[in-house]
Amino acid sequence: MSLRLTDITLTYPDGDNRLTALDQVTLEVPKGSLTAVVGPSGSGKSSLLAVAATLITPDAGTVVVDGTDTTGMGRGELAELRRHKIGIVFQQPSLLPSLTAVEQLEVMARIVGLKPRTARARAMELLDAVGLADRARRRPHQLSGGQRQRVNIARALMNDPTVLLVDEPTSALDHERGASVVDLITRLTRRQAAATVLVTHDRTHLTAVDHIAEVHDGRLRLPAAAR
Ligand code: ADP
Ligand code: MG
Repeated sequence: MSLRLTDITLTYPDGDNRLTALDQVTLEVPKGSLTAVVGPSGSGKSSLLAVAATLITPDAGTVVVDGTDTTGMGRGELAELRRHKIGIVFQQPSLLPSLTAVEQLEVMARIVGLKPRTARARAMELLDAVGLADRARRRPHQLSGGQRQRVNIARALMNDPTVLLVDEPTSALDHERGASVVDLITRLTRRQAAATVLVTHDRTHLTAVDHIAEVHDGRLRLPAAAR
């Protein structure tokens, strides 16, 4: 099992009280499979991804990434784990305006510690995998919203992550482009043998995913097989 969340509870300060964003959530995602987490706005989806990404430490519960229990790990250790094992695609593509598509990926390579030549080859291979090999020299303003999201996804794969976490990748796209981005993430999950969690409030694109889990008020209904 590449990603395992067990009995996760997460609260945020809320005036004099605490708001329970995640309530004893358990989720297991095997290598090479994609679990979609669906639920309305405010149900806890982004919180779940942030915990899985080890960006937020939960009040209770354990996060195991590729066999490593992250409980009690320090900031430095967690950053190292993320660098090598986790790919994160946030809702808004945060591309650097002055860099070309291939350079956006190469920046990641430096963080991950790839040699420049290896980095260029890997960046081009990933741009090809997301269908943008012929757009490698374009800057963000010369790309469409869907193309920018593809660069964002390719960038998250530069470290060949064991765990890929994707937050609402289709929210800024029209229906057709949204469907093709979900399809792309599904294909990349298989190709990279990643354990992928894809969060969305929109079920319409989820035709080819392995499992769908529903979250309501911080509670997760265990994933049902989607196919
Ligand atoms: P979703 O991604 O499904 O829209 P979130 O995980 O962002 O849901 O939020 C879940 C709940 O936690 C919401 O009620 C939200 O207002 C609250 N919340 C999210 N982040 C914070 C925060 N940093 N501080 C306090 N409350 C938060
Ligand atoms: Mg969210």
